[in-house]
Amino acid sequence: MATLGIPQNTIAVLQKYHFNFQKKFGQNFLIDTHVLEKIIDAAGITKEDFVLEIGPGIGTMTQYLCENAREVTAVEIDQNLIPILEDTLSAYDNVTVINEDILKLDIAELARERNGGAPIKVVANLPYYITTPIIMGLFESHVPIDSITVMVQKEVADRMQVGPGTKDYGALSLAVQYYAKPEIVANVPPNCFMPRPNVGSAVIRLTRHEKSPVDVEDEKLMFSIIRASFNQRRKTLANGLNNSPEIHLPKEVIQESIEELGVPVTIRGEALTLEQFAAFANIIKKKMKK
Ligand code: SAM
Repeated sequence: MATLGIPQNTIAVLQKYHFNFQKKFGQNFLIDTHVLEKIIDAAGITKEDFVLEIGPGIGTMTQYLCENAREVTAVEIDQNLIPILEDTLSAYDNVTVINEDILKLDIAELARERNGGAPIKVVANLPYYITTPIIMGLFESHVPIDSITVMVQKEVADRMQVGPGTKDYGALSLAVQYYAKPEIVANVPPNCFMPRPNVGSAVIRLTRHEKSPVDVEDEKLMFSIIRASFNQRRKTLANGLNNSPEIHLPKEVIQESIEELGVPVTIRGEALTLEQFAAFANIIKKKMKK
C-alpha cells in the first residue's frame, strides 16, 4: 500500500470507499509526510515498543507506527473506517484495530494484556473535541505510560506548557505538568490536513515523570483546590476556595493557610506554581484533619 501521507493517495482511498467525513468525530486526516516523520521521531518509537494509537482514521500514521514499533493497537470509533483500515494496513501483521470509543475502553487492561503491564507509548492525532478528557483519563487512571505524543489544537498545546503569569496558565497546565514533562515539537498549519481545520495545530510530547515533581499528601484535594482557583479567575484564591462546594473550611482558616504558605492573602490562584499548590494542599489537609 502506497503511503497515505501523500495527498493523492489519501484522495484515492477516500474515493474508492466513498468516504464521508464526519465532523462530530473531529476527522482531519494528515497529508504531510514531513509532519508524520516528525511525530514518529518525537515519539521515539523502537521495535521494543507497544504503541496505542487513538483515532487512526484511514491508517496514515498507523502505517508509520507499524514500520517502527513492535506492536500497535489502533482504536477507532467510526465503523465506516474499519474496512478501509483492513485494506490500508493489510501489509502489516503487528497491528490490531479495535472499533470502540477510546473513552470507554479499559486501557490499563489492554496494556496488561498486550504489553505485560509495562509502560506503553501513546501516539495520536487527536479529535480536538475530546483532547482534555483523553489525556487526563490516561494520566489519572492507572495506565502505565511512558509518553504521549499527540497532535492537538495549538492553543491547547500552549496551555499545557506554560507556567504562572501567562493568560494560558490554568488547571490543564498544572495537571499535565504534575504528571509529565511537556515539550512542543512542531507547529502544524491547517494545510497539512484534509479537510483543513479552522485552527492551527501542534505536536506535543508529554513524557511521564518517573517520580512526581512535588510531594503532595492528597492529590485529589490539590486538584479540587486548583479547579476552585481557576473556576473564578478574577477572584482571589481565598474567595475562589470559599465559594467552592468541594472545600469545606471557614474563610479565616483559608486565609490563615494562605499566610502559612508565605504569600499575600490577596493573591490569585493563577499566580501560584505547582510547588505552591502542592504545599498549600498539604497545609489545608492538616487543617482539615484538626
Ligand atoms: N490519525 C489519523 C490521521 O492522522 O490522519 C486521523 C486523525 S483525526 C484528527 C481523529 C480520528 O479520531 C478520526 O479518525 C476519528 O474518527 C477518531 N475518533 C474521534 N473520536 C474518537 C473516540 N472517542 N474514540 C476513538 N476514535 C475517535
